[in-house]
Amino acid sequence: MSHAIAKLVLATGNPGKKEELEVLLAGSGIALASISDYPGLKLPPETGTTFLENARLKARAVAAATGEWVLSDDSGLVVDALGGAPGVFSARYAGPEADDRENNLKLLEALSGVPDERRGAAFVCVLVLLSPAGEEFVFTGECRGRIAHRPVGCGGFGYDPIFLVAPQFQLTMAELGRERKNALSHRGAALRKLCAWLAETGKKG
Ligand code: IMP
Repeated sequence: MSHAIAKLVLATGNPGKKEELEVLLAGSGIALASISDYPGLKLPPETGTTFLENARLKARAVAAATGEWVLSDDSGLVVDALGGAPGVFSARYAGPEADDRENNLKLLEALSGVPDERRGAAFVCVLVLLSPAGEEFVFTGECRGRIAHRPVGCGGFGYDPIFLVAPQFQLTMAELGRERKNALSHRGAALRKLCAWLAETGKKG
């Protein structure tokens, strides 16, 4: 079955994520819109217990309101020594109104005294693509790394300044620059799967 997509609404209010998705989809030939193009449209509370549930909640709400193809991203940081926290609570780890700096500080405190070899972590991304007819397609990506002892770098967003990228653990995600981040990141990995799928289903049309 062909899935030629002319227009896609990005179901995220996070400017960092939105920019990365726009860059990664720039060559796809798909016209991109965002929820800010639909005044009054608000994303639902993220009440799910998994990245997939939350991505699905956001995608379904935006699809119901717009009638368009929708792409939602739910992502976060999973820290081995914390049993997977902050996970789905990544955006609000230090509280409902917490900003990136506060979340990073709370995580550094939670790992205070933990040695390098036990600071393993992964960024995880789940993308949900929903067709106007309600068909759902899921693409996932992961990026392994280690939590640094202090923030370094000013690129990216969220936990990027305290995430040392595997396998060297020399640079944080915030030091990589946009292109290298996209080449290595969880979101880049999931997006490449989506693009491969689009190319494949496009051919069958
Ligand atoms: P949500 O998917 O909107 O629930 O929020 C995801 C949260 O995970 C963001 O607010 C960031 O704190 C974190 N996060 C997701 N992707 C990245 C990334 O690429 N870099 C750094 N932090 C990220």
